[in-house]
Amino acid sequence: MVSTSSTTRGADVYTVVNPATEQPVTDVPLASVEDTDAAIERAQEAFPAWRDVAPGERATLLRRFARVVDEHVEELAELEVRNAGHTWGNATWEAGNVRDCLNYYSAAPERLFGRQIPVAGGIDVTFHEPLGVVGVIVPWNFPMPIFGWGVAPALASGNTVVVKPAELTPLTAVRIGELALEAGIPEGVLTVIPGKGSVVGQRFVTHPLVRKVCFTGSTEVGKQIMAGCADQVKRCTLELGGKSANVIFADADLGAAAAAAPYAVFDNAGQDCCARSRILVERSAYDEFLGLLESSVKAMAVLDPSDRDSEMGPLISAQQRERVQGYVDEVDVAFTGSAPDGPGFWMPPTVVLAESAEQRIWREEVFGPVVSVLPFDDESDAVAKANDTEYGLSGSVYTNDVGKALRVARGIQAGNLSVNSHSSVRYWTPFGGYKQSGLGRELGPDAPNAFTEEKNVFISTEGTS
Ligand code: NDP
Repeated sequence: MVSTSSTTRGADVYTVVNPATEQPVTDVPLASVEDTDAAIERAQEAFPAWRDVAPGERATLLRRFARVVDEHVEELAELEVRNAGHTWGNATWEAGNVRDCLNYYSAAPERLFGRQIPVAGGIDVTFHEPLGVVGVIVPWNFPMPIFGWGVAPALASGNTVVVKPAELTPLTAVRIGELALEAGIPEGVLTVIPGKGSVVGQRFVTHPLVRKVCFTGSTEVGKQIMAGCADQVKRCTLELGGKSANVIFADADLGAAAAAAPYAVFDNAGQDCCARSRILVERSAYDEFLGLLESSVKAMAVLDPSDRDSEMGPLISAQQRERVQGYVDEVDVAFTGSAPDGPGFWMPPTVVLAESAEQRIWREEVFGPVVSVLPFDDESDAVAKANDTEYGLSGSVYTNDVGKALRVARGIQAGNLSVNSHSSVRYWTPFGGYKQSGLGRELGPDAPNAFTEEKNVFISTEGTS
């Protein structure tokens, strides 16, 4: 039995482990610095030809890539269930999300508009020009979507891309890389390089040919990436941690809010940067809401992720479970849901009643199936408590008062708010964090521009000067 990441990391091979069974799945070779340099150089060689592909043709190639991914949704989902312990429903959605991102950004090449700006003595036009080689560093919590969010707009803008999947979850990225070639994306335009963050990821930061790094992961590593990129004034986008609030007002449909709350935090076993891991409840509704929440948490189907009824799977690794358990061991647990016995990195959905906003479990990103609940007194107290964090990624507001919903959504310092809903991510709307949750935005209509430099050209109409 292979159980911890420390026992599986060899010199140049990583044994992928199924987190639901602890059984080895397959071995994946890990790239060295030399392998990484060679891949970056190939990406640089492929860049001029890819940049010069006519916009309509690049669009056609991306649509073909999307179609090939669509033909392999089941296969990709099956791989993710085994590699990451994602539920069947989630994994299918995630593979479809890669397809949808590619389709959406396949409309970008013909729409990379510049502007014509009024000037005296001539005309002034702007161009969006690709950067060159873009490096995308993907975490283990959403291996497919985060791959697509970086790769699709970067390719659409005419960049070539090198991708480093997380060491724990390389399988779908490797397969999607193969599908790109099958779809006719030229060699060197998209390269997947499995390897260690400290080797491959770090090389994306230090290699001068990589002109932008898109990083999703921990705030700690994100800060190192940003500092490293500064050395070459390299562009970077950071999608980091979160400690998002789910604010429930007494006038909300409490039944609906309590039914939704477990999915807002326990989806993907809580390993979600958008997890609403702090529930704030208006004091007058606190007891009623907790009763309703207990029923909905206990009703969650925590099952082997290959069971199509499963709503929550295991944690990604023994190490991650240990880390999460460390937070739970410090506090009193109010109630939990269930989890399977036997092998697998399982933990039940767990609810904690916070004693103060100073507790570690209330302040730090736990990244597991744990939620803390705290009462608030009024609207301004709710906003103050929601904002009392270094993070600012997402959040929810439940109320039947539309004015209050808007005031609170505008008052919370976070990039992605939902009212009477816990959805955060649509590929056609912008996504990113305030404060230490990140830098820059992904997705939405503007994402392709984030992979370009804007060039200004003035053309004199009055002879040479
Ligand atoms: P990391 O931030 O270490 O990993 C994210 C990605 O960055 C992985 O691909 C990793 O590679 C890579 N990486 C690691 N170190 C470097 C480096 N020095 N230079 C370049 N790339 C690097 O997260 P962990 O996997 O260690 O998870 C730890 C905690 O981080 C979690 O418990 C959670 O709290 C948080 N986290 C948050 C995420 C989010 O979306 N907000 C996502 C993932 C983690 P490798 O896999 O080889 O280490």
